[in-house]
Amino acid sequence: MLKKIILADHYGFCMGVKRAIQIAEETNDEKDADVTILKEIVHNKSVVERFRADGIGQKMSVEEIDSGTMIVSAHGASPEVFKQAEERGVSVIDATCPLVTRIHDIVDKLAERDYRILHFGDHHHDETLGVIGHATKEQLTVVPDVETLMKLPEDMPEKLALTSQTTAQASEFAEAELAAKKRWPQIKIFNTICNATNQRQKAIMNLAPKVDLTLVVGSLTSANSLRLASMAEALCGRAYLIDSEADIDESWFTTENSDKKLTVGITAGASTPDFLIEGVVDRLLQISNESAELVRPQKRSRTNKLALQDECH
Ligand code: SF4
Repeated sequence: MLKKIILADHYGFCMGVKRAIQIAEETNDEKDADVTILKEIVHNKSVVERFRADGIGQKMSVEEIDSGTMIVSAHGASPEVFKQAEERGVSVIDATCPLVTRIHDIVDKLAERDYRILHFGDHHHDETLGVIGHATKEQLTVVPDVETLMKLPEDMPEKLALTSQTTAQASEFAEAELAAKKRWPQIKIFNTICNATNQRQKAIMNLAPKVDLTLVVGSLTSANSLRLASMAEALCGRAYLIDSEADIDESWFTTENSDKKLTVGITAGASTPDFLIEGVVDRLLQISNESAELVRPQKRSRTNKLALQDECH
């Protein structure tokens, strides 16, 4: 039933996620107690549960935190959140990914110079909420897709800019950029999609057309995992977003023709720990009675694991 298992050239933990987890671990080790993560440190169920099990609090808003230390996640937060924490006497450890901070800096500068900013991103994503806080409502408009961009007024100021969420789909942003330039030739483009997102999207575009089915390891809360799953579905025809090997249904690998053996592709969102991906690989090998050929990317080592990944079991 399973002939080959191929891992994408780029998958799993990115620099910003590793860094945020390390900051949260170190903060928890240094402070005896009263450490609270604002929202989810990264959008992965196992990682979030692991921190909860370690006794680190988690609150969805700064108003719910009255004391101690608050950790701002990899997605960042708006300046208002930092101000509120200070007013409440809560100290802040900032684990915002430097590539998200880069967008904050760009938006700060554009806002200072009176630019009208169109930000290509998901309205409700934590990263977008942080970016929005760096400009006024009149200055910044969130544009979730090209259709919305096309509905904006033709008449726009001379000072106009387009930025993007770090995890936006590269092809959709390219479409938005083209449409925006056509409508408003004066627009300044800031492609702020991060390198990790670009690498993972390129890798799935390369892998998905070559396989019969794709498994994307990641949580439903992870925007970049959802995007990888929808890209894989479009390119390969069959893709499943799974949190771990426990979500695998063996019937997915059953074929009408018993002689036909399937090739399965695997990728994972930027917030998925290696041990979850390795669990999926091990489960697939077990389903194939250890007969499937396993193809790993040459540059990525299986031993590249954070302590967290071993402890998460
Ligand atoms: S996906 Fe990109 S922006 Fe987000 S944490 Fe990872 S490296 Fe940073």
